[in-house]
Amino acid sequence: MSKVIKSDDEWRAELSSEEYEITRRAATEQAFTGEYCETKTPGKYLCRCCGEPLFDSRTKYDSGSGWPSFFEPINSDVVDTKEDRTMFMLRTEVLCSKCDAHLGHVFPDGPEPTGLRFCMNSASLKLDPTETSE
Ligand code: FE
Repeated sequence: MSKVIKSDDEWRAELSSEEYEITRRAATEQAFTGEYCETKTPGKYLCRCCGEPLFDSRTKYDSGSGWPSFFEPINSDVVDTKEDRTMFMLRTEVLCSKCDAHLGHVFPDGPEPTGLRFCMNSASLKLDPTETSE
């Protein structure tokens, strides 16, 4: 996979200030405020920064957390994980493999079949709705 590498100034020019703070500075959007918190529309969730498909709506579930939650990424290569010791917690940060965008965190309290909860920021994602042929 070829990496997308841009300067801070380039990202700042392409993203809204909220998107920039979350994806490039690892901020977190407020719970229950994100665009995709309640969304059930079928489709693929792309990286807001580089457009790489990251999550499928079929793996999205209502975690009650206030952030869009998925039990797995489209495949294990599209995301990277990293230990995060900020906020007096030990968490696992989830990043876009292609552009290193901060997406959110993964927790071991998700549903079957993976038992994982990918707790994502809406501002890190862009829903590409599936074309329906009815
Ligand atoms: Fe990306």
